[in-house]
Amino acid sequence: MSQQQFENFTASSLYCEKCKAAMPVRERLLLVLPDKEIFDYLCTGCGSSVGRREITGGEKLMAQAMAGRRRRRSTAVHQLTP
Ligand SMILES: [Zn+2]
Repeated sequence: MSQQQFENFTASSLYCEKCKAAMPVRERLLLVLPDKEIFDYLCTGCGSSVGRREITGGEKLMAQAMAGRRRRRSTAVHQLTP
């Protein structure tokens, strides 16, 4: 069981209006908030945004579990203590 497999699993195809076809997309981390992460999906053909996904709370934990340990770094939210 390799992590590479899991990384590929998250990449999927979405319909691109510019390409007029279902194109493989690239997942891009758009925004990281303490309680959620927002991902942008970019068409690999023309580079335009074809979708967006918000991952919050338990959903985020599940996605992280599926994505392996690749994003563990970003999950460690350090609270600022005075
Ligand atoms: Zn496209």
